[in-house]
Amino acid sequence: MTNISELWSKSRMRLYDGQHSLNRCTLISSPEPNTRVCVLAMASSAKEDKRGFPGKCVAVIGAGVRYVSDQIVEFRQFLRYVRKVMCSMNWRSCCVFEAEGRAGGKLRSISHDGLIWDEGANTMTESEAAVRFLLDNLGLRDKQQFPLSQQKRYIAKNGVPVLLPSNPIALIRSNFLSAGSKLQIFLEPFLWKNSDSLKGPDTEESVGAFFQRHFGKEVVDYLIDPFVAGTSGGDPESLSMRHVFPELWSLEKRFGSIISGAIQSKLSAKKGTTGESSAKKKQNHGSFSFLGGMQSLTNALCNELGKDELKLQSKVLELSCSCSENSPFDNWSVSYELDNKKLSCEKSFDALIVTAPLSDVKQMRITRRGSPFLLDFVPEVSYLPMSVIITTFKKESVKRPLEGFGVLIPSKEQKNGLKTLGTLFSSMMFPDRAPNDVYLYTTFVGGSRNPELAKASRDELKQIVTSDLRQLLGAEGQPAFLK
Ligand SMILES: Cc1cc2nc3c(=O)[nH]c(=O)nc-3n(C[C@H](O)[C@H](O)[C@H](O)COP(=O)(O)OP(=O)(O)OC[C@H]3O[C@@H](n4cnc5c(N)ncnc54)[C@H](O)[C@@H]3O)c2cc1C
Repeated sequence: MTNISELWSKSRMRLYDGQHSLNRCTLISSPEPNTRVCVLAMASSAKEDKRGFPGKCVAVIGAGVRYVSDQIVEFRQFLRYVRKVMCSMNWRSCCVFEAEGRAGGKLRSISHDGLIWDEGANTMTESEAAVRFLLDNLGLRDKQQFPLSQQKRYIAKNGVPVLLPSNPIALIRSNFLSAGSKLQIFLEPFLWKNSDSLKGPDTEESVGAFFQRHFGKEVVDYLIDPFVAGTSGGDPESLSMRHVFPELWSLEKRFGSIISGAIQSKLSAKKGTTGESSAKKKQNHGSFSFLGGMQSLTNALCNELGKDELKLQSKVLELSCSCSENSPFDNWSVSYELDNKKLSCEKSFDALIVTAPLSDVKQMRITRRGSPFLLDFVPEVSYLPMSVIITTFKKESVKRPLEGFGVLIPSKEQKNGLKTLGTLFSSMMFPDRAPNDVYLYTTFVGGSRNPELAKASRDELKQIVTSDLRQLLGAEGQPAFLK
């Protein structure tokens, strides 16, 4: 990858912690990304803050969940990165520009005819202090909704859902993996293989290759593959281990074996356990959503913004920086489209945070002192297509309903006729999301496994989802509702 920080500092604009923010775009072999996150922060340099600048006026482009800050849930690196940006920015006031008529971006909860479903993220976790801070301060604690039986998760094997053992001991005791794979896990501290192909610390290795070196092919096929497909739509062979699982990557660098590294880290963490960290642990109950769905989070954030601070239906077209060599401060102006008219924002900004998808960012015209500022160092990212299909079935039509979170489908199970990536048991997790007499399911189709299926017709998607749910849960007949 190009040396982004160098390019950025040459232009007197800084990409804060650039490596972290671009991590999630880094790929190994294919142009299919794990996810499409890239946030560009353009701000004046740190030395300017030391001159006693009173606080910055910040423009945020894109009102998805990433927009204000620390709330993005499972993207730990992103959280660290944003916190750093916010601290360094000394934020005074902000203005959020959003192209659509609503804030939330991919977080969208729909309420229809007694049903509530999410079209983007369905749950989040509270593993970061920043998330806890937000929940406490946005008054969201009362709205937090924890899924029933969330520890019950299933993976399809030989065409049927099998309960996933909830911890390594249970895994070894269960029949989920063959005796050979269990032995390989047990002996991993002695048998794990170094990678011959990795020449330097920055060399990429795929998620699949990494786990195969440690735990063997069956673990990759039946644990890693469905997990990766269910969380990112990607596949283990095209994702970079270093960027998707940074903690495990560095565990190997420190200890070699993942198992003994995990045990040693846990033991040393236990030694240093303080009252505060055990209190944190108590608060962390796993995944959760909110009454009314995940969009309650972005709605609560929007309520924190003043009337003039959120500009909806305002698609940013141009960003220009008028900073001069002699001026200590950057000065950004923003032009946007509203009702088919191009407008210039009357305010100017000391800093920008661009959270829009990279493909949208590349369509913006960015200039510095009148000259185009090219984002040619930003990697090409193509986005994985995915369809989310919501169905309901009358309870009496579902012959083998399962309690729990949902079922994931390994790619290998396509040979057993299963074509979806996985299904969340939405009304099993959150009974208030559907009337008492129906089950509500959220099914994902497409991703890198079957990108063409994501774009299939409604009838084809209906047929695929209905067939998988019939095989997995005994859902007979046609869904009572499909969206
Ligand atoms: C089906 C699905 C399931 C998921 N499940 C999970 C999960 O379980 N857990 C999890 O953590 N994550 C999950 N995710 C990922 C998570 O939902 C997204 O990563 C996150 O919502 C992205 O937020 P964002 O703010 O980066 O981008 P977006 O939500 O895409 O927001 C970007 C915003 O920028 C706006 N914009 C674009 N161009 C411009 C412009 N020129 N001017 C102004 N505004 C502009 C867009 O309109 C949009 O509102 C899931 C995603 C999907 C699609």
